[in-house]
Amino acid sequence: MSLTFTTVIGLEIHVQLNTRTKLFCGCSTDYIGATPNTNICPLCTGQPGTLPVLNERVVELGVRAGLALGCTINRVTRFDRKNYFYPDLPKAYQISEFYVPLAEKGEVTVTGDDGKPYKVGITRLHLEEDAGKLVHGASDGRIVGSTQSFVDYNRSSVPLAEIVSEPDITSPRMAKEYVATLRQMVRYLGVSDGDMEKGSMRVDANISLKVSDGRWGNRVEVKNMNSLRALERALEFEIRRQGAILSDGGEIHQETRNWDDSAGETSSSRSKEESNDYRYFTEPDLPPLVLSDSYIEDIERDLPELPWEKKARYERDFDLPQDDISVLTEQKDLAEYFEACVKAGASPARASNWIRTEVLRVLNERGGHISEFSLSPAALVELLRMVEGKKLSTTAAKEVFDAMVSREISLKEAIDACGVTAGNLSGDGLASLVQSVLEANGDVVEVIRSCDDKKDKKRKFLQGQVMKEARGQADPREVAKILDIELPR
Ligand SMILES: [Zn+2]
Repeated sequence: MSLTFTTVIGLEIHVQLNTRTKLFCGCSTDYIGATPNTNICPLCTGQPGTLPVLNERVVELGVRAGLALGCTINRVTRFDRKNYFYPDLPKAYQISEFYVPLAEKGEVTVTGDDGKPYKVGITRLHLEEDAGKLVHGASDGRIVGSTQSFVDYNRSSVPLAEIVSEPDITSPRMAKEYVATLRQMVRYLGVSDGDMEKGSMRVDANISLKVSDGRWGNRVEVKNMNSLRALERALEFEIRRQGAILSDGGEIHQETRNWDDSAGETSSSRSKEESNDYRYFTEPDLPPLVLSDSYIEDIERDLPELPWEKKARYERDFDLPQDDISVLTEQKDLAEYFEACVKAGASPARASNWIRTEVLRVLNERGGHISEFSLSPAALVELLRMVEGKKLSTTAAKEVFDAMVSREISLKEAIDACGVTAGNLSGDGLASLVQSVLEANGDVVEVIRSCDDKKDKKRKFLQGQVMKEARGQADPREVAKILDIELPR
């Protein structure tokens, strides 16, 4: 009988918290693109005689994330020292919360492998400082082949929240969805930008396999996955690798392995340490962190609607396909744009359709973000109204939309500029077009009003002007009728 395997995955996610200054000093956290070793001070480079001062904002962001994860917030916590030497860690210890984390025992709901909602437990969320960064001299930046290495302490002591899951995840797909859900959550909360490529969200995976004959493979930690896709591929690779070894009756080494995205494989980096190797002890230079109930309640009251709550509300309130709901709620700002359109009177289906096809197309083309989008929800709705009222065809409306966005002009200006009108221009739209033609031809109107219009020549001229402005899309009889009302015979 062939063996089958059950996959057991737990994830540790480091999220860089969105603060201006570092965890224990006033140095800037803005290290991306900064000249190496410019955002540093004696404290974050581990000089003797310096004392850490806790950045209060970090605690607030940590509590926000902990509450959103449904965790219990510990009222009294302490920071601890994790002792080890590495050139990017000048103190030779990292300040972290080992014994009592800021938050623990939460959960996140994802889609289970059977398609039903599935809860992944959150073991803990704790605060800690980041290390500096080693830069190696080889042309590809890797240590292999380098004759020299440099150290940049700009990232040293930047605040992180580490979010540790229970080993509840059972497939690479679920791991990916779990990380995507957390990333969306920290962005909604404004806690972090959650950018995996820039390293402001870093995922380490612990994966082991249970064999159908009762054996367990040892746990392997996989690092260096810089995207959701890389995470999924790395885990798929490990399932194949570990499965092959276990099938042959072999044993899995407990170790840390690095994912190489271009090679599509993991390789051994070092044997895995146990936590007692780090000789943790309480940080003597920081007092206990004591949080009052009212402090936590204030933060809880201030939490925004969370992504999964927003999705549930959209399902209740708007008759939209699931796919639309996922796209619209992906970013909080996009969801707010959509809701502002609906509030301004657009039908949810039409607003969603236009945002998904047109608004997101333009944003993708320009690499912009919805918060910088030049067209306000009100202006978009004005355009959608013309489509709904059949005053503009969808094709013409898309052209007008492009003009409104690219030239930052009003609906009326865009309609003029595009030279489009109005499949079936009628009603108020036509009446206002007639009005503008009358205003532009005051002398002709005078002639008609003074009854000097022989054989209705001038009236026909005005009608022709209106038809021209309407690019032939108005009904001539309706134009004549409006002219007769405006200029009674
Ligand atoms: Zn500093």
